[in-house]
Amino acid sequence: MFPRWVWDFIRVVGGEVVAEVRGWRFDVVSPRFVARPSISDVTSPCLVKRDVWLRKVARVRVDSVVFVLGRVVHEVFLYPFRYVNESLWDIVRGFDRFLNSLNSSVKKYRDVFYKLFRKALAFALYSSEEGIPISVEPMIPAAAIGLSDYVKPDLMVGFIPVDIALAPSSDKGFERKELALAGYALAIEAWTGHPVDYGVAIYVNLGDASLNWKVIRIDDSLRRVFLETRDRVAMILEHPEEPPQPADQCPQTCPYFEVCRR
Ligand code: SF4
Repeated sequence: MFPRWVWDFIRVVGGEVVAEVRGWRFDVVSPRFVARPSISDVTSPCLVKRDVWLRKVARVRVDSVVFVLGRVVHEVFLYPFRYVNESLWDIVRGFDRFLNSLNSSVKKYRDVFYKLFRKALAFALYSSEEGIPISVEPMIPAAAIGLSDYVKPDLMVGFIPVDIALAPSSDKGFERKELALAGYALAIEAWTGHPVDYGVAIYVNLGDASLNWKVIRIDDSLRRVFLETRDRVAMILEHPEEPPQPADQCPQTCPYFEVCRR
């Protein structure tokens, strides 16, 4: 599933991660609030989490092209993994039907989606041939660590959670996926009792469908930041005063930009 260097990296530095804050340490990770946010709430891009408040409390619905594009990129990458046990002919024909059903706002990326699909198909076929255990969007119970009933990493390779995302436009975008992987790791640990020291983020560049793989060490500092953010978001959901807008300029790419600036 992973390129060779990713396996080598994990093998060589494996065992180096020091972590006390494990998912099975219920004295440390148990919820502090009744509200249980989802992983996407905890890792939302807004600094003050106003986007979570708008979505979950004020029930404002937006469906920007960025959202749609993100969902399609996930589905394109995951498609061969979902159907890897079918014939190659059926996988390719099914993918064609999927592409034809896409929203017109993202159809201009058709060629990039094909390139991405071909790469993912190669990984899926190789993993299947090698017998590498991969689950697609497995449902991991997460209430024990104060999150929604279940969380769903995009993929799980053995016990390693994998998250797929569009390559962020700024350095800050990378932190969100690191946090998400920490949340998945804590949930897997709470569920299985198996330590999870690494996660893998795959960033898709829409220009040429290239992939940027990042191995994330899930150490104590990342775990603590995740839990602090989880509590901050839970507090917003439980005490639903409207969060103030941040002092800094908001990115125009935020799907709620128009709503907040009204
Ligand atoms: S526009 Fe700004 S305040 Fe509103 S949700 Fe987006 S980042 Fe947050």
